[in-house]
Amino acid sequence: MKKNSEIVSWDEYTRIHGGKQIKTINPSIQSGSTVLFESYEDLVLARSDKYPGVTYGTGGLSTQKDFESALCKLENGHSSFAFSSGLSAIINTLMTLTKSGDEILLCDNVYGPTARFCDSVLDRYNIKTTHIPSNVGANISEYVSSDTKLIFLESPGSNTFEMQDIRAISKFAQQRNITTVIDNTWATPIFLRPLDLGIDISIHSATKYICGYSDMLMGCVTVNEKYSKQYHDFYHSMEKYTNPQDCYLALRGLRTLNVRLRTHEKSALKVARWLQSKTVVDIVLHPALDSHPQHHLWKRDYSGSAGLFGFVFKKAYSEDDMALFVNALNMFGIGFSWGGFKSLITVGKYKREGKVKYQGRHIVRLNIGLEDPDDLIKDLECGFNYLND
Ligand SMILES: *Cc1c(COP(=O)(O)O)cnc(C)c1O
Repeated sequence: MKKNSEIVSWDEYTRIHGGKQIKTINPSIQSGSTVLFESYEDLVLARSDKYPGVTYGTGGLSTQKDFESALCKLENGHSSFAFSSGLSAIINTLMTLTKSGDEILLCDNVYGPTARFCDSVLDRYNIKTTHIPSNVGANISEYVSSDTKLIFLESPGSNTFEMQDIRAISKFAQQRNITTVIDNTWATPIFLRPLDLGIDISIHSATKYICGYSDMLMGCVTVNEKYSKQYHDFYHSMEKYTNPQDCYLALRGLRTLNVRLRTHEKSALKVARWLQSKTVVDIVLHPALDSHPQHHLWKRDYSGSAGLFGFVFKKAYSEDDMALFVNALNMFGIGFSWGGFKSLITVGKYKREGKVKYQGRHIVRLNIGLEDPDDLIKDLECGFNYLND
C-alpha cells in the first residue's frame, strides 16, 4: 500500500518509543475508543458485522480480553465476560436468560441485592421470582413449574452460609432443560469449578477475592458452550465492557489468588475453631467444620474453604451489647464487602424462608484477612470481655 510520503503524519509525532516494542511480564493497560483498521476492506467488514476482531473500545480491549481468557481457563468454561461490578454481572446474566412469563427459582440465602433486583425490577417485566430453601438439593423438583426457566444458587450463601446440593440440582435441571447459575464468589475457581459439576454459568464478584485488595469493584461471568453465543450477543447489545485499569488489577489478582486463599483458609479455620470453644458462642457457620449441616456437600465438592464465615451467640444480646463488642475491636474494620487482606466484621439479623433466623439473635460475619490469626483471636477475646455469658 502506497502512502503519501510528503506529509508528516500524526503517528510520527506520537511514536515516542521509536517503534520498538518494550516487553514486560504483564500485559499493557490498553485504553481507547477508536480501534484502527488496516484497510478500507476491513471497514466494510466491520460495517456488515463480519469483521473478526474488536471494532470499537466498547467491545472490550486487550487488557479486558487478557483477564477474561485467564479467568475462563481457571473456571474451565467456554467464554468469560467482565462487568463493572459483581451485581452488574448478576443482573445482566438474569436479563440475558429470561423473558416475560418466565419464572426464576432463587435460593433464599443469595446476596441481598440479587433478590432485590429480582423482586423489584424483574417483577415489572413479568418475570416471577420464587424463593426456595437455602439448603435445597434433589428436592428441587418440588419447586419447579412449567414456567421455571432458571435456578439461581449461591453456595454457601451470604451471611448464613447454608449450602445447596449443586450436583443434584444441575442433574435435575439438565434433564428439564432449565438453566443453572451459581454465584461462586465465596469459593472462587480455586476451590470450586461449578461448570465441571454441570452448572451452566458461574458468576463472581471479582471485587472480593479475585481483586483481593478492597480497592476496586468488578464482576465476571463464565459460561459453558451451550450459552456462549446467547451471552455474547446480549453483552454486545447491552454494550457492556469494563475499564482496562480494573481488568489489569483483576488479572494481577488472579496471579496470587491461590496463595492468598490458602492463607485465608488456614487463618479462618483457626479463628473458627477457637470460636467453637468459647462459651458465649452457640454456632459457628463455616462449611468446613463438621458441625455445619451441609458439611458433607462441602467435603464432596469443594477443594478448600474461604476466609468468610459467621457465628451466632448463645444469648440474644441487645444492640447496646453489640455496640460494646464491635466497637472494642481493633483489628477488624467495620464494613461491607470482603475478600481483601484486611479483616472485617458485620453484624445483622437475617430472615430466611420468611423467618428471622436463630430466634432474633445476631449473626456475626467475619472476613478473615491476611493478618496473624493469633492477633485476630486476641482482639475477639478482648471484645468478648464486654459480653456477659
Ligand atoms: C459482594 C457480593 C456481590 C456483589 O458484588 P459487587 O462487586 O460488590 O457488586 C455478589 N455476590 C456476593 C456473594 C457478594 O458477596
